Amino acid sequence: MSVKVMIPTPLRPYVGNRDAVTADGATVDEVLSNVTAANQQLKRHLFDDSGQLRNFVNVYLNDEDIRYLQRGTTPVHEGDTIFLIPSIAGGSSGAGSDFTYDDIQRYSRHLLLPEVGLSGQLKLKRAKVLVIGAGGLGSPLLLYLAAAGVGTIGIVDFDVVDFSNLQRQVIHSEKDVGRKKIDSAEERIKGINPTVKIIKFEERITSENALDIIKNFDIVIDGTDNFPTRYLVNDACVLLGKTNVYGSIYRFEGQVSVFDARKGPCYRCLYENPPPPGLVPSCAEGGVVGVLPGIIGTIQAMETIKLILGEGEPLIGRLVLFDAMKMKFKELTLRKNPRCPVCGENPTVHELIDYEEFCGLGRGNELSDDLSISAEELDRKLKAKEPVVVLDVREPQEWEINRIDGSLFIPVNDLPSRVSELSTADEIVVYCKGGQRSSYAVRFMRDIGFKKVRNLTGGIVEWALKVDPSMARY
Ligand SMILES: [Zn+2]
Repeated sequence: MSVKVMIPTPLRPYVGNRDAVTADGATVDEVLSNVTAANQQLKRHLFDDSGQLRNFVNVYLNDEDIRYLQRGTTPVHEGDTIFLIPSIAGGSSGAGSDFTYDDIQRYSRHLLLPEVGLSGQLKLKRAKVLVIGAGGLGSPLLLYLAAAGVGTIGIVDFDVVDFSNLQRQVIHSEKDVGRKKIDSAEERIKGINPTVKIIKFEERITSENALDIIKNFDIVIDGTDNFPTRYLVNDACVLLGKTNVYGSIYRFEGQVSVFDARKGPCYRCLYENPPPPGLVPSCAEGGVVGVLPGIIGTIQAMETIKLILGEGEPLIGRLVLFDAMKMKFKELTLRKNPRCPVCGENPTVHELIDYEEFCGLGRGNELSDDLSISAEELDRKLKAKEPVVVLDVREPQEWEINRIDGSLFIPVNDLPSRVSELSTADEIVVYCKGGQRSSYAVRFMRDIGFKKVRNLTGGIVEWALKVDPSMARY
């Protein structure tokens, strides 16, 4: 029977600095005596003069302590692994001393992997990973990183759990609805692995706090769903020299990459500028299939663990595109852009900027008051039977859930080809879910000559809140 014997760091000098040796034998005792026969110095450390295993050394067969099996006479089988776990007083750098017996059992499937082993598990324990967002991507990320034994996990989130989150944000339970996501996530992580140290940042990540939050972590994982935060996280990671594990999701498609400007491109090399506001709907507007963040977030977790271990080929310089409907992965090569404003040869961004403004969402880009109308004001006009055309620019699926009675329906992307169905003489109020897409529509219509078009502030969400509380919400 050929069995692998894992050697803890303090004992490695006695076996030629190897972390594992192979030996034959039918029982644990036979295997160990064959190992020590070939390594006499190890023998003195493992056995006393009478040939008894020294009592400060514990022996595990796979993930079981042999004291609870048949001790030295426990039979071994081909492919088994024996772990030698010495107790060490004082601050040894030996990996074995950093783990309790429970840890050894918990991580036994990792310890059996040559690419992980005790030393890799120790790297995971010492790693500090920051997860931005405890939502769709953050859920699988946090669950798997905690289970894998990542020692310190930072979480940035300021949101509370909503019923509409439960379809995909599997770290939260129905009982958590209304509770802070960061607290709900912490409780679940502690349930999986109480040894994980959790650092909570219950705030929105901004240009003011991003560098302070990120600087103490090794790896940053972007689990957010908006452009300002994505550019902010990218720039902060480039400026601080951190690795940024990127993932994004929309409907049935996802993207994953690893950005490390020291070794490859950054997010700005890929997308130098954000799309205009309102053009690309968010998941809250466009929807997302619940399993998708599970798949993309799990890939992010896998990349993170590889980066910590220093094993395998990270997704640096590669963008993986996933299409759930076709069940296809496609890989694109990403190149560093020498003209990248943040990581290029002559960078123009040396500090964090106003990312709301950069993404066209700043105050200066909001529609002025005379181009907006409140839900209450529109309600008053409709009740007074004033001649107002109400235009819904959402998607058909949203129209099926709820709508303002009597409104016209033209999805925002169809507006350029169907705008002739509207008259510039009419007073028009445009709405979408939250006011983004409709702002885009109002600007577009103003530009082509509609002088009496206005945006419903806060969209149908605000309408349901202020005017029609019985309306279905999404
Ligand atoms: Zn770049």
